[in-house]
Amino acid sequence: MSYRSASEHYKEIFGEKVYRIALDAGCTCPNRDGTKGRGGCIFCSGSGSGEFAADRTLDVPAQLALAKTRVEQKCKSHKYIAYFQNFTNTYGDEETLKEKFEAALSDPEVVGLSIATRPDSISEKMYRILEDLAQKTYVWIELGLQTIHEETAVWFHRGYDLSAFEQAVERLSKLSGHLETIVHVILDFPVETKDMMLETIRYCSNLPIQGIKIANLNVLRDTELAVLFEQKPFPLMDMDEYIDFLCTVVENIREDIVIYRMTGDGDKKHLIAPLWVANKRMVRNRITQEFHLRKIEQGRNFRPCPKE
Ligand code: SF4
Repeated sequence: MSYRSASEHYKEIFGEKVYRIALDAGCTCPNRDGTKGRGGCIFCSGSGSGEFAADRTLDVPAQLALAKTRVEQKCKSHKYIAYFQNFTNTYGDEETLKEKFEAALSDPEVVGLSIATRPDSISEKMYRILEDLAQKTYVWIELGLQTIHEETAVWFHRGYDLSAFEQAVERLSKLSGHLETIVHVILDFPVETKDMMLETIRYCSNLPIQGIKIANLNVLRDTELAVLFEQKPFPLMDMDEYIDFLCTVVENIREDIVIYRMTGDGDKKHLIAPLWVANKRMVRNRITQEFHLRKIEQGRNFRPCPKE
């Protein structure tokens, strides 16, 4: 099994290990504030799918300083990517957001920005800001697609259709500078078959994108999905089945696309199902083992599973 991992990609660019620091830009989401919908995507937690982000009451330099202290307790690092993770980080006053992105970049150890958002929430002005930033630093734009199937998107209340996603990908691909697009995909929606999931993966592989984040569906406390699950539990893949399927998924991803994540990353404290996903080390080892076995079977290059 061969694929490009985030750590390899960062090493190629920066020549060393780089840590992503989750920050909070203080945004909300149009799928929560009533612009596109209320309540958000049914799997989204109250923290806007960013359980590990910093305290939003602090300004960006203070968030960064705190997070860096935590990372440095575990390992020596001098390069960071400021990751604006939770909610929709291009949604809001563009000048205010630009100031926050620039505040992160003013730290000499921050070598890039990763900005998670929705494809329907990038204004013309924001595209220009992103392009300007990409002239000065590395910028990753993360788009939450999850699936190409409209019926699934309606089921989980995504609040935009595939054409909005396609337009954003196209627009981002035309921006100059060091800008890469990462697409988020979720596997194991109970309303999808594995063939449908693979259709999403193959579709993404044909796009002008540079990265993908794959997650298995996590049922988190205090979400609409948790209510559905408690009313009528639906089956979720166990670890062996998921890893087996993941191998097929990875085989269907274009080889130059960087795989940033392979499982869900919900906060353990809020995780209802599947519980195996909470044991990250075990899951990572099992994925590495399985990929290694497949490499022996297929004679392809093997690279260890990336640490998230
Ligand atoms: S678009 Fe993102 S932040 Fe908004 S509700 Fe959906 S998952 Fe949550």
